[in-house]
Amino acid sequence: MGLLNGKKALIMGVANENSMAWGIARALYNEGAQLGFTYVGEALERRVRPLAESVSSPLIEQCDVGSDEQIEALMGRVRDVFGQIDILVHSIAFANRDELNGSYLRTTREGFLTAMEISVYSLTAVVKAADDLLTPGASVVTLTYHASRQVVPNYNVMGVAKAALEASVRYLAADLGPRGVRVNAISAGPVRTLAASGIAGFRDLHRQFAERAPLRRNVTIEDVGKTALWLCSDLSSAVTGDVIYVDSGAHIIGVSPSDAIRQ
Ligand code: NAD
Repeated sequence: MGLLNGKKALIMGVANENSMAWGIARALYNEGAQLGFTYVGEALERRVRPLAESVSSPLIEQCDVGSDEQIEALMGRVRDVFGQIDILVHSIAFANRDELNGSYLRTTREGFLTAMEISVYSLTAVVKAADDLLTPGASVVTLTYHASRQVVPNYNVMGVAKAALEASVRYLAADLGPRGVRVNAISAGPVRTLAASGIAGFRDLHRQFAERAPLRRNVTIEDVGKTALWLCSDLSSAVTGDVIYVDSGAHIIGVSPSDAIRQ
C-alpha cells in the first residue's frame, strides 16, 4: 500500500529527466499517485511526453504560465480527466539570461517584471485557477532557493523573485488553510538542470557546494523528491506556509571551516 494510493497530482515544470519536478514526479508515482504533466512549447513536449508516458500519465498538456487563458484551459482538462486533485507541484522559474550575471544594480524593468511574473505570480495564478479542484487536505509544493535570504553572486533578480515566492507561499497558506489545503516550498541546494545552466558561474557554485555543506555532498533530484513526497503525504499533515531546506544543511553555515583557515 503506497503512501499516495488513490491520490491525483498535477506536476508543472518537467523539462527533462534532470528537472526537480521529475525527481518529485517519480517519488510520488512510486507511492501510488496518478500524475498529470504540463510542458511549454514543442521542443520540451518531445522531452516531457515520453517521461510522462513512462509513468502512465493520462494528462499531458501545454501550459505557459504567462497566459491566463492557457492556465484556465489546463484546469478545464484537469477537471475532465481527474475531477479533483490532491497534489499540485509548481516547479517553474524563468529570468532572462542577461539578468543572471554581474551586478544586481543592472536589473532592467522588463527583466524584473518577467522574472516576477513567471517565477512568482505564476504560483498564485495556478493555485487560484485550481482552487475549486483542490481536495480538502490537498498539498501545494513549490521550489525555492536560499538566494531569497542571502546574497548569492549572479542570482540577482531571481533571488528577489524567490523572496517574493516564499512570501506568496505564506499568504496562500493562510488563505487556503481554513479548508485544509497546505502550501509549502522546498529550498533546494544547487542541481545541474536546464534552468540552472542560465546562471553565470553555476558550475563553480555547484562544485564548491559539497565542500561547504555539513553533509559534504551535493543534493540530487531524488533527495528533493523524497521531501516532496513527505510534504504531499499525510505524514506532514500539520505543516504549512513553510520553507523546508533540502540542501545538505548548507544554509546553516555562516563561515565554513575552509574559509576560516584561509582568513
Ligand atoms: P528545469 O529547467 O528543469 O525546470 C524549470 C521549468 O520551468 C521548465 O520545465 C520550464 O519549462 C518551466 N518554465 C519556464 N518558463 C515557463 C513558463 N512561462 N510557463 C510554464 N513553465 C515554464 O530547472 P529546475 O532547476 O528543475 O527548476 C525547477 C524549480 O526549481 C525552479 O523554480 C528553480 O528556481 C528551482 N530551484 C532550482 C535549483 C537548481 O539548482 N536547479 C535550486 C533551487 C531551486
